[in-house]
Amino acid sequence: MNRVYNFSAGPSMLPLPVLEKAAAELITYGNSGMSVMEMSHRSPDYEAIIADAEKMLRELMGIPDNYKVLFLQGGASLQFAAVPMNLIGRTGKADYVVSGQFSGKAFKEAQKMGYDVVCAATTKEDNFDHIPALTRDMFRPDASYVHICYNNTIYGTKYADIPDTGDIPLVADMSSCILSEPVDVSRFGVIYAGAQKNMAPAGLTVVIVREDLLEYADPKMPTMMEWKTMAENGSMYNTPPCYTIYVAKLVYEWLLSIGGLEAMKKHNVAKATVLYDYLDSQSYYLAPVKKDSRSMMNVTFVTGDAELDKKFAKEAAANGLKNLKGHRSVGGMRASIYNAMPAEGVAALVAFMKKFAAENPKA
Ligand SMILES: *Cc1c(COP(=O)(O)O)cnc(C)c1O
Repeated sequence: MNRVYNFSAGPSMLPLPVLEKAAAELITYGNSGMSVMEMSHRSPDYEAIIADAEKMLRELMGIPDNYKVLFLQGGASLQFAAVPMNLIGRTGKADYVVSGQFSGKAFKEAQKMGYDVVCAATTKEDNFDHIPALTRDMFRPDASYVHICYNNTIYGTKYADIPDTGDIPLVADMSSCILSEPVDVSRFGVIYAGAQKNMAPAGLTVVIVREDLLEYADPKMPTMMEWKTMAENGSMYNTPPCYTIYVAKLVYEWLLSIGGLEAMKKHNVAKATVLYDYLDSQSYYLAPVKKDSRSMMNVTFVTGDAELDKKFAKEAAANGLKNLKGHRSVGGMRASIYNAMPAEGVAALVAFMKKFAAENPKA
């Protein structure tokens, strides 16, 4: 078996034990005589799978009883539209923090629908190299919600703390950091995440929503996007992404088996520290993100020379370190070191970075 270290921002690596279990169960699941891919979503076997997935996710994240867990489709990007449509009825207005490309898209999507939304803060003028400092008085007190992107996948920034929005429900896109460390779910009104970074293959979006926020949907919104409908139907108003939810369940099982999110955080801190410590110890590579905003999941760096950056990504790939090219909109390099990236992968990356710097002196 020849597996590479895959630093892709998403879809990204899955834990090897998860892939092995999925492979072992691929053709027949338990005593069912069929693959999970072939099962009716209404069958007892499948109902047990989705129920277990929810139970394990609740245990991992400590999700309080007054929150619903939804397994949906359409990606985090569909939630950019679903969030305002589900929540705007609270007060008719909403505030956004634009800290990168995805939060910018979320803001634009809400604007597009003609809702009264404003950008309360942005770091666009600084190329999104940090998370804006936020205080409660920056938000309209009667906003239906405040939307943030908790970890900015493209720029490699993350909130060091959960912002204080007072009584205004906080809505967070956690696509690229969910399950990387414990979070206090009760501080959020809604958490949503596309699965393909830290949870499962693509095709699944998890929404965690406080029950009292299910009552404010725009009556004209599509039924499929209405959280309340999905909550009332156990995420099975229509056929859910059955197989992807099953793999998510295997990932949750794996996380519980290694000690849950506290243990996961320890691994992630250790991995990110190795990489950032190296970046801080030398001057060949530059890490553009301000230290207090550094992401533990997506680590960005540049050589300062676009041609060298290109050469770096190409040679790294030839050495089994794949997908280190930065997002097409920002260039440079990005190492996405999600939960499934082993410490050995980060060590191999740092060793390669040292070798490349020695072999490619700058003019
Ligand atoms: C990847 C990503 C998205 C887009 O997710 P899709 O599931 O492709 O729609 C949105 N937000 C963040 C933070 C992401 O990392």
